[in-house]
Amino acid sequence: MSRQSCIPLALRSGLVVLVAWLALAPRAQAAQLEQVLLFLGAEHSRLLLVLDEPASDVSSHSSPAVGSAPARATVMLDDTALASRLITPYLQRPGGAEMPVGQHGIKQLVFSSMGPRAQVVVELERARNLSITAVGDRAYLLDLRLPDTPPDASLPEAPALANWLAGLSMAPSKAHEPHARPRIVVDPGHGGWDSGAVGCTGTHEADVVLALARRVATGLERELGAEVLLTREDNTFLSLHERAAFANSRDADIFISIHANAAPAPTVWGIETYYLDVASDANAAAVALRENASVHTGVQADDAASRVLSELVVSGTSAMSRKLANEIQGAVVQNLSQLMGPGQTRDLGVKSAMFTVLVSTRMPSILFEASFLTHPDDEMRLRTPAFQRATADSIVQGVRSYLAATESE
Ligand SMILES: [Zn+2]
Repeated sequence: MSRQSCIPLALRSGLVVLVAWLALAPRAQAAQLEQVLLFLGAEHSRLLLVLDEPASDVSSHSSPAVGSAPARATVMLDDTALASRLITPYLQRPGGAEMPVGQHGIKQLVFSSMGPRAQVVVELERARNLSITAVGDRAYLLDLRLPDTPPDASLPEAPALANWLAGLSMAPSKAHEPHARPRIVVDPGHGGWDSGAVGCTGTHEADVVLALARRVATGLERELGAEVLLTREDNTFLSLHERAAFANSRDADIFISIHANAAPAPTVWGIETYYLDVASDANAAAVALRENASVHTGVQADDAASRVLSELVVSGTSAMSRKLANEIQGAVVQNLSQLMGPGQTRDLGVKSAMFTVLVSTRMPSILFEASFLTHPDDEMRLRTPAFQRATADSIVQGVRSYLAATESE
């Protein structure tokens, strides 16, 4: 996985009015554009547009740069609305919602509604040759290739993406309806034959994260009145794909995957929280690689999912996930610093990386790395009930802040 800078996905407070309107407006169109995934290559990129229902017609055209207007690739989806969660994180301009990319000759994506149509414009440094392929029955893949260049073989192909989407659609594909009580899936990482990281004194990640996840579940139910579902309640193995499919099929509002970290150097310690995007640094990429490892031994559909993980920019839930990650990481670090005393807590921050389990979920999702089992003191803390209790309470507090912030938007 190559090193990539994080894509800035700014939340703007000026969006409040528009968001409220989008939430209340009746949906006239049959289909809704729910998620956009952009796979980047040097001269060739692919844009996957995922809808909840097929569009009645899809067309594209390419236009060269004219004066100060950049070269563009435009996709029109007939009888299609834009999901509010797809566009609300981005800066709203008269031309549409702007999602910055700034990599590999792609400047930005602009989402807009033209009457009953959804329009996605890709602004480019140079004009590209375009082609559109249907992926399954409700997604479309736009190829953007510089003239006279061969296809990039490292990008995921339509059949692999179709398999991946088919695996995801165990879920009801209808638009997400808000629940009376927040519905939260808590995912204790690993389990069964997959013990995860193993600590200096033999602590298994699978065991310690199950204990922590149970405390989080109890807290979410008691403190927030949430409806909580655990992906596993005992020491059984679940593939990453099954965990994501579980959350999708239950139509969860939030997905929280709980892990304990490991590093080659025994001196590394601290707490970090991840959301899905291109890797924010080399260490983040290494953590994703380790946590994604069990994907290769799962069912066959997971192979398709792992091929999806090239260089990826994702829109739809990424900004919400980052917000959730910030709230949880902030609460955990603040509370543990107070509880444990000076020098006993280390904030490694919120990071992004391409975790398979997060790629496949449809709701705001984070992966929490509680501490490093490969550091003797961190391992000891992680086994301590007081530390577990305070960490779980802090995760609950972070979710509470996230829910309060998203409700008031
Ligand atoms: Zn793990």
